[in-house]
Amino acid sequence: MDLNYFKQLLEERRTQILENITIATSELEDLKNVEINDEGDYAALCADNMIDTVIQEKQIAELKEIEEALEKIEHGEYGICEMCGEQIKPLRLKVKPYAKYCIVCRSIIERENGQR
Ligand SMILES: [Zn+2]
Repeated sequence: MDLNYFKQLLEERRTQILENITIATSELEDLKNVEINDEGDYAALCADNMIDTVIQEKQIAELKEIEEALEKIEHGEYGICEMCGEQIKPLRLKVKPYAKYCIVCRSIIERENGQR
């Protein structure tokens, strides 16, 4: 497996997320400086902020997974399913380079989550 390829993929994605977070944070700072005239504006502003927060939380979660995957590359554990210990297919890693589970385990987890 071409580890350098996946390392590059992960690092590019990490840079992109860090940029997104920086932009979103500065936009939020700008919003704080806007003068609010009526309650309607304020409600709209709050809704926007909530959406931004959700997006940002998702990105931070993804960032964490990317960091973990990069660490695995360092330790020679990259691309191994955390549940069954099998090699994750490179094709799957190309789509999701920080995948923790192989397709079989992933579908088991998703099925269990769906039952809840
Ligand atoms: Zn597995």
